[in-house]
Amino acid sequence: CAAATALALAACAPAPAALAPARARPVALQPAPAGPRLPDTVAPARYDLELDIDPNAAELRGRVTIDVAVRVPVRSIWLHAVDLAIDRVELRAGGRERVVRVDRSAAARGLLGIHATAPVPAGTARITIAYRARLGQRVGAFRQRVDGRWYAFSDFEPIDARRAIPCFDEPRFKTPWTVAITAPRGLRALSNAPEVATTDAGPDRVRHAFATTRPLPTYLVAFAVGPFALVDGPRAPVPLRAAVYPGHEARALAAVREGAGALARLQAYTGQRAPVDKIDLVAVPSFNGAMENPGLITVAADILLVDPDRAPPEARRRVAMVVAHELAHLWFGDLVTPAWWDDLWLNEAFASWMADRVVAAMHPGWHWELERVRAKADAVDRDAAGTLPPLRRAAASDADIRTMLGSHMYTKGPAIVAMLERVVGDAAMRAALRGYLRRHADGVGTTPDLLAALSAAGPADLGAIAKPFLNRRAVPVVGVELRCGERGASVRLSQGEPAAARGGSADAPGARAALAVGEVPANPPRAAVAGGPDGGARTARARRAPWIVPACVRTPAGTRCARVGPTAVDIALPGPCPAWVYPNAGERGYYLYAPGAAGAAALRAHLRDLGDVEWAGLALNAWMWLRSGAVPVDEAARALVDLAASDRDAVVDLAVRGLTDLAAAADRAGRGGAFRAYLRAALGPRARSLGLRARDGDDDDTRMLRPRLARLVGVLAADPALAGAARREVEARLDRGDLPRTDELELALEVAGARGDDALFRRYADALARTDEFPARLVLWHGLASLADPALARRAVDAAFAPGVTPGERAYALYVALRNPTTRATALSALAAAGRAARVPAAAWPALAAAAADACAGEEADALAAVRDALPAGAEARAALGAAIAQVRACVRRLPAPDAIPDAW
Ligand SMILES: [Zn+2]
Repeated sequence: CAAATALALAACAPAPAALAPARARPVALQPAPAGPRLPDTVAPARYDLELDIDPNAAELRGRVTIDVAVRVPVRSIWLHAVDLAIDRVELRAGGRERVVRVDRSAAARGLLGIHATAPVPAGTARITIAYRARLGQRVGAFRQRVDGRWYAFSDFEPIDARRAIPCFDEPRFKTPWTVAITAPRGLRALSNAPEVATTDAGPDRVRHAFATTRPLPTYLVAFAVGPFALVDGPRAPVPLRAAVYPGHEARALAAVREGAGALARLQAYTGQRAPVDKIDLVAVPSFNGAMENPGLITVAADILLVDPDRAPPEARRRVAMVVAHELAHLWFGDLVTPAWWDDLWLNEAFASWMADRVVAAMHPGWHWELERVRAKADAVDRDAAGTLPPLRRAAASDADIRTMLGSHMYTKGPAIVAMLERVVGDAAMRAALRGYLRRHADGVGTTPDLLAALSAAGPADLGAIAKPFLNRRAVPVVGVELRCGERGASVRLSQGEPAAARGGSADAPGARAALAVGEVPANPPRAAVAGGPDGGARTARARRAPWIVPACVRTPAGTRCARVGPTAVDIALPGPCPAWVYPNAGERGYYLYAPGAAGAAALRAHLRDLGDVEWAGLALNAWMWLRSGAVPVDEAARALVDLAASDRDAVVDLAVRGLTDLAAAADRAGRGGAFRAYLRAALGPRARSLGLRARDGDDDDTRMLRPRLARLVGVLAADPALAGAARREVEARLDRGDLPRTDELELALEVAGARGDDALFRRYADALARTDEFPARLVLWHGLASLADPALARRAVDAAFAPGVTPGERAYALYVALRNPTTRATALSALAAAGRAARVPAAAWPALAAAAADACAGEEADALAAVRDALPAGAEARAALGAAIAQVRACVRRLPAPDAIPDAW
């Protein structure tokens, strides 16, 4: 084994037994890589992909030709392939074909080895692989049926390209791709780049050739084949279309319109033309969200297709947000790609943040700045419990990589970027991002690259500020103390809560010395993701690094900012002692605040002086005060009740979430009745005047917040007037046999159920016995499963398990009952009865577990555990239920203590 270089020397190590030839002789084969990364010895330079796809068949045929750069002489080339039938492998190097042996010994880990009988010299080489891939259901190359016709799609992020193409399946390998698809005549074939030629490929087949792309990583390569109808949008600056199912064209117009507006704004912000030659928005029947493949953005049909006449406000907002997000990825992810999966936040946080900007600018009436607070609240709620993964963490295994793309990317991610923008300054941020995108265009970027660009444009401590927010799981808490005296007014900001705010000394049991809520001391160390030998040491330093919280406070006299480090900082205020201090101006900081009882009461007394965003931020903080004890429960509750009077849905949503938690705490303290009476007295008048049905002239916010208040007052607090109105509505519909599956009727069924009786149970049950019509049956199950009386709730679940009830109806009834806080506990204990869990369809468990995860009582967690334990070992549902149980227990743990709940309100 003559090794010319150190790397080849390493390859001279003895081959693994499985690869050893029969006669012992020196070999220079490289064993399969141990981790998720391929060796650096060989890198792809371009791909030529020929696919033969008939969506009516369960398999595609492919031939991929990969030009590679061989950096040092090698005997072995490793690439990725999962569940592919490899028919032929050719390797051409040094001007001649090589004799190769295909090595599938690591196929279980998704690896394909090509061993040459003689060393392949450094330089260029060409690998050609003929293969077949199964068209599965959801990932890799897959197919789905709509209106009786098959469509084929691809979805490769993060590591599923290897299920459709043998390839070097890592984001750092960006190369041009030239794709051609042969498909049955009459079908459309789409890929990332525009189609440049069609040629006959036999009597009933056509070959579609596409232009060569800009450099793309494997995870962004995409195709779609099927009888699509195209909906043309504007031709400039980039031709934009939707590809949908025939007959659904009108429902794609909103997406195309939003896309065109978003594209113009994204180009204006980035200062660059979109880096693609066309954009298709492709509807996928059953899909998770959307995927930003450049030129071929795939979107779940239930998001993309919006009924122009009847869509609720949520649907119109969702399509605008999703399309803007995916288009923002053209720059953040597609043009500049993370070098490795640990930096995925560079894609998702920035695309989400850009989409927020775009939607806010396009739809001022939507008050999109409130959606940012709502998304931040989703993150803060879990981050404060220590259950939200950090934005950056090691991607040291395929499992790590697959779990990288969590909801925190879309909730915490944009909140952190918005905070950094505040620190850097809006104009400087834009200039810095433009420079970053230009410098790394068609290549890869890393977190250090991004932070260096921002630091150069902004303050020198930008990196020190950013790192704890990226690497740690926690929400900093900023204590706020207004100090007024003869020498003027000031605000003292400190990390953690001042002991005075808790009404006790710092030594009191339960006093929080921690700097941040949610901090998990035993944070597993990040692996050396940067690849350097000191990665571990650097990570340890990063964990010890102190939080530096960029905080801004607003008073009637204006906004002032400071860095809150380990030592308290005083901000001098101009003029007299202010009546109030809002401690997170514009809600652009990712921190909670602890203003003490007096500070909280002052904010509540001056709500009219605060803006909508501050209302939303106060609702978030008041909700979290219930959990931290930073402000007494009755003050937090009164703030939530006052904020629930907002005209803005996001504010009402956050207030209702807090009040729902408080009801659970009051129940645990045995004081639930008094608290519900308070809710009815305080919020009943508004809930009753809003009623249960949409009205002409309602704005979007009213349409969205009406059901929230109705469920809080009518269902949770069982308001008799609302229940009576709902019952009349439901009975009238039962009389007429008019039971459409609408959100409004479902709301009426739930409110009527809060005070439902045996007579109502029998009406539903009788109607169910008389009708075979499917939607009407689901409506009737919805009514049955919404009956709050424990005896009736129990009978409803029993009925769902009666002989003759289809598994689908049973699952639906359980879902309705588990989602409702008044029926959940009974439903869980009924479901825990012997033999029942096994009779729930497996596909229903994720939704059921998610519904049950909103519970916040110890008995509910116990019942959930009993349900899980009744399932066979290894059942997939056990993991979903396990996560739900953990979430319920975390909620219970963070409820206010029983002795903190007032007897009377
Ligand atoms: Zn995204």
